[in-house]
Amino acid sequence: MAVDPILSSPLGPAACEKDAKALQFIEEMTRNADSVQERVLAEILSRNGQTEYLKRFKLEGSTDRETFKSKIPVIKYEDLQPEIQRIANGDRSAILSAHPISEFLTSSGTSAGERKLMPTIQEELDRRQMLYSLLMPVMNLYVPGLDKGKGLYFLFVKSETRTPGGLLARPVLTSYYKSEHFKTRPYDPYNVYTSPNEAILCADSFQSMYTQMLCGIYERKQVLRLGAVFASGLLRAIRFLQLNWHQLTHDIRTGTLSPKITDPSVRNCVADVLKPDPELADLVAGECSKDSWEGIITRIWPNTKYLDVIVTGAMAQYIPTLDYYSGGLPLACTMYASSECYFGLNLNPMSKPSEVSYTIMPNMAYFEFLPHEHSSIPLSRDSPPRLVDLAHVEVGKEYELVITTYAGLYRYRVGDILRVTGFHNSAPQFHFVRRKNVLLSIDSDKTDEAELQKAVDNASKLLREVNTSVVEYTSFADTKTIPGHYVIYWELLVKDSANSPSDELLGQCCLAMEESLNSVYRQGRVADNSIGPLEIRVVKSGTFEELMDYAISRGASINQYKVPRCVNFTPIMELLDSRVVSSHFSPALPHWTPERRR
Ligand code: AMP
Repeated sequence: MAVDPILSSPLGPAACEKDAKALQFIEEMTRNADSVQERVLAEILSRNGQTEYLKRFKLEGSTDRETFKSKIPVIKYEDLQPEIQRIANGDRSAILSAHPISEFLTSSGTSAGERKLMPTIQEELDRRQMLYSLLMPVMNLYVPGLDKGKGLYFLFVKSETRTPGGLLARPVLTSYYKSEHFKTRPYDPYNVYTSPNEAILCADSFQSMYTQMLCGIYERKQVLRLGAVFASGLLRAIRFLQLNWHQLTHDIRTGTLSPKITDPSVRNCVADVLKPDPELADLVAGECSKDSWEGIITRIWPNTKYLDVIVTGAMAQYIPTLDYYSGGLPLACTMYASSECYFGLNLNPMSKPSEVSYTIMPNMAYFEFLPHEHSSIPLSRDSPPRLVDLAHVEVGKEYELVITTYAGLYRYRVGDILRVTGFHNSAPQFHFVRRKNVLLSIDSDKTDEAELQKAVDNASKLLREVNTSVVEYTSFADTKTIPGHYVIYWELLVKDSANSPSDELLGQCCLAMEESLNSVYRQGRVADNSIGPLEIRVVKSGTFEELMDYAISRGASINQYKVPRCVNFTPIMELLDSRVVSSHFSPALPHWTPERRR
């Protein structure tokens, strides 16, 4: 077939003229990665040269890379905390950015138990929108005919708060869905959702999910792709269907809407979709009442070509479950982004999850790479490490991502470890290796070793009244059930065997641990219902010694052996589980409110 020259692109023949422009843009950016980066840095520095932060380091108007690298320190969030706090408290002077900080984006990464606050400026919305606009043109290269149907995407807004100085603080996707960029997006036949905006924007997660599911079922034959941001979100939708299909099919049969949906704008918009359809209700009820839910996605949405969910990084643990429910549909990971900055996209979105690489778009920010072997060494001002530029990273090497953004982060360590897999033109492509210091994660929560230690310390205080202490512990993110939950294995020293801890007391220990964990964890438990109750499994005394023996038998050095604080290696799990004497669950929800603890 002859390809229209207007539509031809090195990435492949574009589906339409709009796509051709987007692919052309990707080509231009990736061919000129280094010069685009140079320009981006110069733009950021010239625009923000008079900010308090940059003046402190005496750039004296320089916008070149050498001066920048020699004068500006590489930092972490905690280094920026005083500036962030001042902005949060209402200081509107140009501290980090010459453009006014429009709001804070609350990251799922935490600092001292609270979400990190990332400054952003109004125009960043355009940059994010631009990256989104590149996703379908790339997908259309691989999956034809997506303009002939719709996408069922489970998208949600989360709660927002204001800082003491009055700035909004909310997650980046909440900010995006509430923006005019999203709400009044022009019609694009390749990007039509079954979920009405009103349902996506409904802050009540039950009503939002219910409505999105209902609309998605009505349009079951039109649905060509199904997605959520992360794999955990899509599985939560499946679980929701398991719990609510009786009510959903009742509504479909009768053409009425459950009284649980009280939001007037949601009720209004569903009225357009809702009509009695007993045949559809029978079909869905028939599928949902079968014993096995294997392949349920394609049974209900038979024309689905792929699932659009992130399954890289911590989300890889959900691949087998997604395969089960979808009968092995392709999994597309389309983009790599964060609250700090949107980074890039996957130019080969139908690749296997283990082979996914993201191409960082050089126009999004200025990117540097800290060779990973250095990233565990504290950075000193006297001997700054050599950070590598985007176009100069080496294939096969691992780096920590360091960014300088238009919104006022300068040489900021994101904490993600990436491995270079190749290049598209002169832009490198990266495999997401992992986020640093994450021990446990179920949804967007990230619990590190210190947080787990603190939680165990706090909980074990409750055991003092029965003269018992925790001798050793380890943990495991159990994602076999939906939602997943944290499992903590405890080996106890019960000093008075007539007075061993009761089930109730150990349940209280579970809750005490949850109370100690960070706010993203507690929000997942309380507001999003994305994390199940924490479980303590008490193991027989001597179990951790056996664990050590096992590690040593596999070559660990006896002098250097340390108890792993998180396990996921099957033989170790089997050993631990075979020694469990009792298990206990958190009896209640921990405290969580949208407000930050001060
Ligand atoms: P947040 O700050 O809450 O927006 O989370 C951003 C973080 O999520 C990133 O820094 C990564 O650690 C992780 N993340 C985002 N996109 C991906 C992806 N495509 N694959 C793996 N991890 C991702």
